[in-house]
Amino acid sequence: MKDATSQISKGNFEVTLAKGGNDELGDLSKSIQLLANDLKYLKKERNEFLASISHELRTPLTYIKGYADIVLKRNLPKEEQQKYLNIILEESNRLSLLIKDLFDLAKIDKNTFAIEKEQIHLHEFLIAIERKLSPAFIERGMSLSISSPSNIYILADPSRLEQIILNLLDNAMKYSTQGTKTAIYAAKDKHSVQIAVKDEGKGIPAEDLPYIFNRFYRVDKARTRSLGGTGLGLAIVKELVDMHGGEIAVKSEIGKGTVFLLSFKGQ
Ligand code: ADP
Repeated sequence: MKDATSQISKGNFEVTLAKGGNDELGDLSKSIQLLANDLKYLKKERNEFLASISHELRTPLTYIKGYADIVLKRNLPKEEQQKYLNIILEESNRLSLLIKDLFDLAKIDKNTFAIEKEQIHLHEFLIAIERKLSPAFIERGMSLSISSPSNIYILADPSRLEQIILNLLDNAMKYSTQGTKTAIYAAKDKHSVQIAVKDEGKGIPAEDLPYIFNRFYRVDKARTRSLGGTGLGLAIVKELVDMHGGEIAVKSEIGKGTVFLLSFKGQ
Protein backbone atom coordinates (compact mmCIF):
# COMPACT_ATOMS: atom_id res chain seq x y z
CA MET A 1 0.00 0.00 0.00
CA LYS A 2 2.88 2.34 0.77
CA ASP A 3 4.28 1.58 -2.67
CA ALA A 4 0.90 2.20 -4.32
CA THR A 5 0.33 5.60 -2.63
CA SER A 6 3.82 6.65 -3.60
CA GLN A 7 3.08 5.73 -7.26
CA ILE A 8 -0.22 7.66 -7.09
CA SER A 9 1.50 10.75 -5.71
CA LYS A 10 3.86 10.64 -8.70
CA GLY A 11 0.88 10.61 -11.08
CA ASN A 12 0.91 6.94 -11.93
CA PHE A 13 -2.64 5.76 -11.32
CA GLU A 14 -2.19 2.29 -12.85
CA VAL A 15 -1.86 0.57 -9.51
CA THR A 16 -3.44 -2.75 -8.62
CA LEU A 17 -3.64 -3.71 -4.98
CA ALA A 18 -4.21 -7.24 -3.80
CA LYS A 19 -7.64 -7.80 -2.27
CA GLY A 20 -7.27 -7.51 1.49
CA GLY A 21 -9.30 -9.16 4.21
CA ASN A 22 -12.34 -7.84 6.03
CA ASP A 23 -10.35 -5.81 8.50
CA GLU A 24 -9.19 -2.19 8.62
CA LEU A 25 -6.20 -2.91 6.40
CA GLY A 26 -8.51 -4.48 3.83
CA ASP A 27 -10.75 -1.37 3.91
CA LEU A 28 -7.74 0.89 3.49
CA SER A 29 -6.54 -1.15 0.52
CA LYS A 30 -9.99 -0.88 -1.12
CA SER A 31 -10.04 2.90 -0.55
CA ILE A 32 -6.61 3.34 -2.13
CA GLN A 33 -7.70 1.29 -5.16
CA LEU A 34 -10.86 3.40 -5.45
CA LEU A 35 -8.82 6.61 -5.24
CA ALA A 36 -6.46 5.39 -7.98
CA ASN A 37 -9.40 4.44 -10.22
CA ASP A 38 -11.12 7.81 -9.67
CA LEU A 39 -7.93 9.74 -10.39
CA LYS A 40 -7.36 7.71 -13.55
CA TYR A 41 -10.88 8.49 -14.71
CA LEU A 42 -10.49 12.21 -13.92
CA LYS A 43 -7.20 12.36 -15.81
CA LYS A 44 -8.78 10.72 -18.87
CA GLU A 45 -11.77 13.05 -18.70
CA ARG A 46 -9.54 16.11 -18.36
CA ASN A 47 -7.46 15.09 -21.36
CA GLU A 48 -10.55 14.54 -23.49
CA PHE A 49 -11.96 17.88 -22.39
CA LEU A 50 -8.70 19.67 -23.25
CA ALA A 51 -8.65 17.99 -26.65
CA SER A 52 -12.23 19.17 -27.32
CA ILE A 53 -11.39 22.70 -26.22
CA SER A 54 -8.43 22.95 -28.54
CA HIS A 55 -10.52 21.58 -31.39
CA GLU A 56 -13.34 24.04 -30.66
CA LEU A 57 -10.91 26.97 -30.51
CA ARG A 58 -9.08 25.92 -33.62
CA THR A 59 -12.11 25.94 -35.91
CA PRO A 60 -13.04 29.63 -35.61
CA LEU A 61 -9.38 30.62 -35.57
CA THR A 62 -8.85 28.79 -38.85
CA TYR A 63 -11.65 30.83 -40.43
CA ILE A 64 -10.38 34.10 -38.98
CA LYS A 65 -6.83 33.49 -40.14
CA GLY A 66 -7.87 32.24 -43.58
CA TYR A 67 -10.23 35.08 -44.38
CA ALA A 68 -7.96 37.78 -42.94
CA ASP A 69 -5.25 36.42 -45.23
CA ILE A 70 -7.52 36.61 -48.28
CA VAL A 71 -8.65 40.17 -47.51
CA LEU A 72 -5.05 41.30 -47.01
CA LYS A 73 -3.46 39.60 -49.99
CA ARG A 74 -6.06 39.80 -52.72
CA ASN A 75 -7.32 42.91 -54.29
CA LEU A 76 -11.00 42.13 -53.76
CA PRO A 77 -14.02 44.22 -54.67
CA LYS A 78 -15.52 46.04 -51.70
CA GLU A 79 -18.57 43.73 -51.30
CA GLU A 80 -16.42 40.64 -51.15
CA GLN A 81 -14.14 42.23 -48.63
CA GLN A 82 -17.23 43.05 -46.59
CA LYS A 83 -18.41 39.44 -46.80
CA TYR A 84 -15.13 38.08 -45.46
CA LEU A 85 -14.87 40.72 -42.76
CA ASN A 86 -18.36 39.76 -41.60
CA ILE A 87 -17.29 36.13 -41.28
CA ILE A 88 -14.26 37.23 -39.29
CA LEU A 89 -16.55 39.22 -36.98
CA GLU A 90 -18.96 36.28 -36.57
CA GLU A 91 -16.17 33.88 -35.76
CA SER A 92 -14.64 36.32 -33.27
CA ASN A 93 -18.05 36.57 -31.57
CA ARG A 94 -18.20 32.79 -31.45
CA LEU A 95 -14.78 32.68 -29.79
CA SER A 96 -15.89 35.22 -27.18
CA LEU A 97 -18.99 33.15 -26.40
CA LEU A 98 -16.98 29.98 -26.15
CA ILE A 99 -14.48 31.56 -23.79
CA LYS A 100 -17.30 32.98 -21.66
CA ASP A 101 -18.97 29.56 -21.40
CA LEU A 102 -15.66 27.86 -20.60
CA PHE A 103 -15.01 30.42 -17.92
CA ASP A 104 -18.49 29.83 -16.45
CA LEU A 105 -17.81 26.09 -16.35
CA ALA A 106 -14.42 26.60 -14.73
CA LYS A 107 -16.00 28.79 -12.06
CA ILE A 108 -18.50 26.09 -11.18
CA ASP A 109 -15.87 24.17 -9.30
CA LYS A 110 -17.83 22.17 -6.78
CA ASN A 111 -15.68 23.12 -3.81
CA THR A 112 -15.33 26.83 -4.29
CA PHE A 113 -18.46 27.91 -6.14
CA ALA A 114 -20.81 29.74 -3.82
CA ILE A 115 -24.52 29.28 -4.24
CA GLU A 116 -26.33 31.97 -2.33
CA LYS A 117 -29.80 30.68 -1.78
CA GLU A 118 -32.70 32.91 -0.89
CA GLN A 119 -36.47 32.65 -0.90
CA ILE A 120 -37.69 33.51 -4.37
CA HIS A 121 -41.30 34.24 -5.23
CA LEU A 122 -41.41 32.10 -8.36
CA HIS A 123 -44.25 33.81 -10.18
CA GLU A 124 -42.66 37.27 -9.94
CA PHE A 125 -39.29 35.81 -10.85
CA LEU A 126 -40.64 34.12 -13.99
CA ILE A 127 -42.63 37.17 -15.04
CA ALA A 128 -39.42 39.25 -14.89
CA ILE A 129 -37.74 36.71 -17.18
CA GLU A 130 -40.70 36.78 -19.55
CA ARG A 131 -40.52 40.58 -19.70
CA LYS A 132 -36.83 40.38 -20.55
CA LEU A 133 -37.06 37.67 -23.22
CA SER A 134 -40.47 38.12 -24.80
CA PRO A 135 -39.26 40.79 -27.23
CA ALA A 136 -36.60 38.41 -28.58
CA PHE A 137 -39.23 35.70 -29.11
CA ILE A 138 -41.64 38.13 -30.78
CA GLU A 139 -38.89 39.38 -33.08
CA ARG A 140 -38.51 35.80 -34.35
CA GLY A 141 -42.27 35.36 -34.79
CA MET A 142 -42.54 33.13 -31.71
CA SER A 143 -44.16 33.58 -28.33
CA LEU A 144 -43.23 33.02 -24.72
CA SER A 145 -45.73 32.50 -21.92
CA ILE A 146 -45.62 31.80 -18.21
CA SER A 147 -48.07 29.74 -16.25
CA SER A 148 -47.33 29.71 -12.57
CA PRO A 149 -49.50 29.78 -9.44
CA SER A 150 -48.79 32.78 -7.25
CA ASN A 151 -48.11 30.80 -4.07
CA ILE A 152 -44.86 29.05 -4.97
CA TYR A 153 -41.60 29.97 -3.27
CA ILE A 154 -38.30 28.36 -4.08
CA LEU A 155 -35.04 28.40 -2.17
CA ALA A 156 -32.37 29.07 -4.81
CA ASP A 157 -29.64 31.43 -5.94
CA PRO A 158 -31.56 33.96 -8.06
CA SER A 159 -28.79 34.76 -10.54
CA ARG A 160 -27.98 31.05 -11.05
CA LEU A 161 -31.63 30.09 -11.41
CA GLU A 162 -32.00 32.85 -13.97
CA GLN A 163 -28.95 31.54 -15.84
CA ILE A 164 -30.50 28.04 -15.90
CA ILE A 165 -33.80 29.27 -17.30
CA LEU A 166 -32.23 31.72 -19.76
CA ASN A 167 -30.04 28.95 -21.20
CA LEU A 168 -33.07 26.69 -21.66
CA LEU A 169 -35.08 29.50 -23.25
CA ASP A 170 -32.17 30.40 -25.49
CA ASN A 171 -32.18 26.82 -26.79
CA ALA A 172 -35.97 26.81 -27.16
CA MET A 173 -35.59 29.89 -29.34
CA LYS A 174 -32.65 28.53 -31.34
CA TYR A 175 -34.24 25.18 -32.14
CA SER A 176 -37.78 26.37 -32.92
CA THR A 177 -39.29 28.01 -35.95
CA GLN A 178 -41.66 30.92 -36.58
CA GLY A 179 -45.19 30.55 -35.24
CA THR A 180 -44.25 28.22 -32.37
CA LYS A 181 -44.90 28.74 -28.68
CA THR A 182 -42.56 28.29 -25.76
CA ALA A 183 -44.08 28.06 -22.31
CA ILE A 184 -42.82 27.85 -18.75
CA TYR A 185 -44.99 25.97 -16.27
CA ALA A 186 -44.43 25.93 -12.54
CA ALA A 187 -46.01 23.61 -9.99
CA LYS A 188 -45.33 22.26 -6.55
CA ASP A 189 -46.18 19.24 -4.49
CA LYS A 190 -45.43 18.27 -0.90
CA HIS A 191 -41.71 17.75 -1.44
CA SER A 192 -40.62 19.70 -4.47
CA VAL A 193 -41.06 22.58 -6.85
CA GLN A 194 -41.09 21.82 -10.56
CA ILE A 195 -40.39 24.15 -13.46
CA ALA A 196 -40.97 22.97 -17.01
CA VAL A 197 -39.64 24.74 -20.10
CA LYS A 198 -41.60 23.46 -23.08
CA ASP A 199 -41.06 24.34 -26.73
CA GLU A 200 -42.63 23.31 -30.04
CA GLY A 201 -39.31 23.11 -31.82
CA LYS A 202 -37.54 20.48 -33.90
CA GLY A 203 -37.11 18.01 -31.03
CA ILE A 204 -34.12 15.84 -30.14
CA PRO A 205 -33.66 12.28 -31.47
CA ALA A 206 -34.07 9.63 -28.75
CA GLU A 207 -30.55 8.28 -29.37
CA ASP A 208 -29.03 11.70 -28.61
CA LEU A 209 -31.02 12.41 -25.45
CA PRO A 210 -28.66 10.64 -23.02
CA TYR A 211 -25.73 12.78 -24.19
CA ILE A 212 -27.09 16.30 -24.54
CA PHE A 213 -25.82 17.37 -21.09
CA ASN A 214 -22.26 16.38 -22.02
CA ARG A 215 -19.80 19.14 -22.76
CA PHE A 216 -19.57 19.99 -26.47
CA TYR A 217 -22.28 17.49 -27.42
CA ARG A 218 -24.42 18.74 -30.28
CA VAL A 219 -27.07 16.84 -32.19
CA ASP A 220 -26.36 18.49 -35.51
CA LYS A 221 -22.81 19.81 -35.50
CA ALA A 222 -22.94 21.83 -38.70
CA ARG A 223 -26.34 23.40 -38.14
CA THR A 224 -25.71 24.24 -34.51
CA ARG A 225 -22.53 26.02 -35.52
CA SER A 226 -24.53 28.26 -37.81
CA LEU A 227 -26.89 29.03 -34.89
CA GLY A 228 -23.97 30.10 -32.75
CA GLY A 229 -24.15 27.31 -30.17
CA THR A 230 -21.07 26.43 -28.15
CA GLY A 231 -22.30 22.99 -27.06
CA LEU A 232 -21.71 24.00 -23.43
CA GLY A 233 -25.09 25.53 -22.54
CA LEU A 234 -26.74 22.38 -21.19
CA ALA A 235 -23.55 21.24 -19.44
CA ILE A 236 -23.60 24.54 -17.53
CA VAL A 237 -27.33 24.15 -16.79
CA LYS A 238 -26.77 20.64 -15.44
CA GLU A 239 -23.90 21.74 -13.18
CA LEU A 240 -25.94 24.65 -11.81
CA VAL A 241 -28.97 22.41 -11.14
CA ASP A 242 -26.70 19.86 -9.40
CA MET A 243 -25.23 22.62 -7.23
CA HIS A 244 -28.77 23.39 -6.04
CA GLY A 245 -29.35 19.74 -5.20
CA GLY A 246 -32.00 19.72 -7.92
CA GLU A 247 -32.66 17.45 -10.87
CA ILE A 248 -33.14 17.98 -14.57
CA ALA A 249 -34.86 15.65 -17.02
CA VAL A 250 -35.75 15.98 -20.67
CA LYS A 251 -38.48 14.60 -22.91
CA SER A 252 -38.57 15.22 -26.60
CA GLU A 253 -40.39 14.23 -29.75
CA ILE A 254 -39.01 14.91 -33.22
CA GLY A 255 -41.00 17.57 -35.02
CA LYS A 256 -43.19 18.19 -31.97
CA GLY A 257 -40.93 19.75 -29.38
CA THR A 258 -38.93 19.36 -26.22
CA VAL A 259 -39.61 19.82 -22.55
CA PHE A 260 -36.95 20.29 -19.89
CA LEU A 261 -38.17 19.49 -16.40
CA LEU A 262 -36.44 21.01 -13.42
CA SER A 263 -37.17 19.82 -9.95
CA PHE A 264 -35.96 21.43 -6.73
CA LYS A 265 -36.51 20.36 -3.17
CA GLY A 266 -39.25 22.42 -1.48
CA GLN A 267 -38.25 24.86 1.25
P1 ADP B 1 -25.66 24.49 -28.01
O1 ADP B 1 -24.80 25.64 -27.63
O2 ADP B 1 -25.14 23.74 -29.19
O3 ADP B 1 -27.10 24.83 -28.10
P2 ADP B 1 -26.34 23.01 -25.62
O4 ADP B 1 -25.45 22.33 -24.63
O5 ADP B 1 -27.19 24.11 -25.13
O6 ADP B 1 -25.42 23.45 -26.80
O7 ADP B 1 -27.27 21.90 -26.27
C1 ADP B 1 -26.72 20.68 -26.77
C2 ADP B 1 -27.49 20.19 -27.99
O8 ADP B 1 -28.80 19.74 -27.60
C3 ADP B 1 -27.74 21.27 -29.02
O9 ADP B 1 -26.68 21.36 -29.94
C4 ADP B 1 -29.02 20.81 -29.71
O10 ADP B 1 -28.70 19.88 -30.72
C5 ADP B 1 -29.75 20.07 -28.61
N1 ADP B 1 -30.82 20.89 -27.97
C6 ADP B 1 -30.73 21.56 -26.80
N2 ADP B 1 -31.90 22.16 -26.49
C7 ADP B 1 -32.76 21.86 -27.50
C8 ADP B 1 -34.13 22.19 -27.77
N3 ADP B 1 -34.87 22.95 -26.94
N4 ADP B 1 -34.69 21.69 -28.92
C9 ADP B 1 -33.97 20.93 -29.77
N5 ADP B 1 -32.66 20.58 -29.57
C10 ADP B 1 -32.06 21.04 -28.46
